[in-house]
Amino acid sequence: MTVVDSASPDLLVSLAAALTGTLSRPGEPGYERSVPWNVAVPVDPVAVVAAATADDVAATVRAAREAGLRVAVQATGHGAVRIGPDTILVLTGDLDELTIDPDTRVARLGAGVLWQQVLDAVAPSGSAPLCGSSPNTGVTGFLTGGGIGPVARTYGVSSSRVRAFDLVTGDGTLRRVTPDSDADLFRGLCGGKSTLGIVTAVETELLPIAEFYAGALYYDGRHAAAVLEAWRVWSATLTEEHNTSLAFLQLPPLSGVPEPLAGKFVVAVRFASVAEPGIAADVLAPMRAAAPTVIDTVTTIPYAAVGSVHADPVDPMPTREATTMLRVFDEEAAATVLVMTGPASSSPQVIVELRLLGGALGRPGPHPDVYCHREAAYSLLCIGVLAPPVADAVIAHGEAVVEALAPWSTGGALPNFAASDDPAHLARVYDEDTRAWLGALAEQHDPAGIFRVGQVVRLG
Ligand SMILES: Cc1cc2nc3c(=O)[nH]c(=O)nc-3n(C[C@H](O)[C@H](O)[C@H](O)COP(=O)(O)OP(=O)(O)OC[C@H]3O[C@@H](n4cnc5c(N)ncnc54)[C@H](O)[C@@H]3O)c2cc1C
Repeated sequence: MTVVDSASPDLLVSLAAALTGTLSRPGEPGYERSVPWNVAVPVDPVAVVAAATADDVAATVRAAREAGLRVAVQATGHGAVRIGPDTILVLTGDLDELTIDPDTRVARLGAGVLWQQVLDAVAPSGSAPLCGSSPNTGVTGFLTGGGIGPVARTYGVSSSRVRAFDLVTGDGTLRRVTPDSDADLFRGLCGGKSTLGIVTAVETELLPIAEFYAGALYYDGRHAAAVLEAWRVWSATLTEEHNTSLAFLQLPPLSGVPEPLAGKFVVAVRFASVAEPGIAADVLAPMRAAAPTVIDTVTTIPYAAVGSVHADPVDPMPTREATTMLRVFDEEAAATVLVMTGPASSSPQVIVELRLLGGALGRPGPHPDVYCHREAAYSLLCIGVLAPPVADAVIAHGEAVVEALAPWSTGGALPNFAASDDPAHLARVYDEDTRAWLGALAEQHDPAGIFRVGQVVRLG
């Protein structure tokens, strides 16, 4: 595509006039809304469109086509990927529709809605969305990445609950995409991120869950070896109504971090079970006995408090992620994790997380998708903060951890973790057939390459 001079003011002026929402250029009020949650990522678009309607998104795509510009999309910037001055950035934060059909338990959600808003809206009816660990992430970015949440082993990839997407494709038209209306587009949207266009609304099933037995056991870092080994053995025995992850945490003393955890090496074992609480407590007992806990938050909690299970960071920060997926997690793999990231390792990572996969994640969902990791048993995610004094060490260390675990790795990476536009990363997210299929579909719906920006799969 020919990229015009990023000035192209006439076109942007006429686009601004056509919008219900606003268009801001660098230096203008509103442009600052493009700063992503992950402030380490350079997001410098030629203009920012705060879309107020789906038509705004469609108009932006048509204008960009005319100008030879690209279009990217952002809700919160939790999964931000670099954006340059050849791109208009659509912000979806004002697409805030949130309606619930209590009879069908289906929620219709604008692309800017965050998971906590849905959790709060549906809790009074005893319903729950299949959200992720952080309720502050955007519904649409999460679902277009498949989505692996705290009860994913029980209910599967979150996109398997989606009934419909409203989508603006590369020709600037808005269409409602369902498994019946457009089977291919629907499949590609379930895991393909923004490869096929910009979603303006999503309709997703809710689950009949009011409460569950969930929380985390926190242990002092000196018990890391014992807890990791106990968790390795125990996690492999869990049936699929039980979900768990283990994290090595080195949280700075910031507001929101409980005093016993701040500034120390801590191990967290997260647990989320939809079994009857007495049964769930019996299942968790071996981990409660594995070492003394500093804090034990696991109890019956409202599902709307699901964010407390992982207690992910809330405030924007400059983060860098490294990730891999494991076929098996044997004694040697655990020893490698301990050596590379344990309390004696000088690891610069703030969080090193192992999630147990399997269960419903190992089976195909009710409709085809582009989730390529059904054989993986665990995922590993390192999150570092690119701030002194560890900033320089974070990236190389994350890569070294991934490399050290190569003997146990599937070679894969989840679409939602370690967001990147690097083709080598995309080759880990999607297998070769899926990349070829998704790339060909993208060419069909976006021959001008409007959406060739960010974490998207394209041919050539
Ligand atoms: C603290 C934290 C916890 C997390 N926990 C989990 C978890 O438990 N499970 C999990 O699966 N992921 C998790 N993630 C990853 C998260 O799901 C992704 O970063 C997701 O992309 C966030 O969506 P967003 O809209 O908030 O982010 P954004 O940065 O706004 O969007 C990221 C990308 O999503 C796509 N996207 C966003 N909006 C649209 C749209 N309207 N149409 C088409 N594509 C769109 C685009 O490719 C965009 O670049 C976590 C991330 C963080 C930082």
